[in-house]
Amino acid sequence: MGRKFFVGGNWKCNGTGEEVKKIVSTLNAGEVPSGDVVEVVVSPPFVFLPLVKSTLRPDFHVAAQNCWVKKGGAFTGEISAEMLVNLGIPWVIIGHSERRLLLNESNEFVGEKVAYALSKGLKVIACVGETLEQRESGSTMEVVAAQTKAIADKVSNWANVVLAYEPVWAIGTGKVATPAQAQEVHSELRNWFQANASPEVAATIRIIYGGSVSGANCKELAAKPDVDGFLVGGASLKPEFIDIIKSAE
Ligand code: PEP
Repeated sequence: MGRKFFVGGNWKCNGTGEEVKKIVSTLNAGEVPSGDVVEVVVSPPFVFLPLVKSTLRPDFHVAAQNCWVKKGGAFTGEISAEMLVNLGIPWVIIGHSERRLLLNESNEFVGEKVAYALSKGLKVIACVGETLEQRESGSTMEVVAAQTKAIADKVSNWANVVLAYEPVWAIGTGKVATPAQAQEVHSELRNWFQANASPEVAATIRIIYGGSVSGANCKELAAKPDVDGFLVGGASLKPEFIDIIKSAE
């Protein structure tokens, strides 16, 4: 169907300058499939974006982990989409569950952020996912559909969006979704786009999985037809990230 495999590395709030240089040199030395086969985007903390951008191999790209919901100004501690564009940062992660849960970012706020970032020319990795309680109560699809709808309410062009399905119970826990569980939600999300956006969006949008992806489990997940790649947290700081990129083949 022509959806290029996408592997994102979310470094979260980790690393010293020295550690970041080491990760970049490991990535730069890694043998991976060509850019025709896989798109790789790594997301360091804001303060390391210029360093990573200037030293990272040219076939990999960088993302910020967040940006402000509108034009910059009197918003202490925030980083605007315009600043990212000014620095030449092409991607931004929006709506990560850590921000939704720890910083109370609502579905609507996330939707507004996605729309604003896109309007400034950024490409967006938009995250959705249910908590364990929501999964156990059978409301997974209802939750991820509501999170996706809040974005769809503000966005009609999905060409520059990658949707990351990240079940909260799998993030940083070592408890990965089974390939069948990931496929089920990805396929239902695709159906959601078919019904609520367009058949073209449903066929072309990349839906990637995140939650304890590792070198050991990536191949089985990548084999599922609606898993178009990964958003990787912990393992993106380690050499096994290269193995995860290779699962694109
Ligand atoms: C994430 O933070 O997006 C993530 C998927 O983390 P981890 O791979 O560590 O579960």
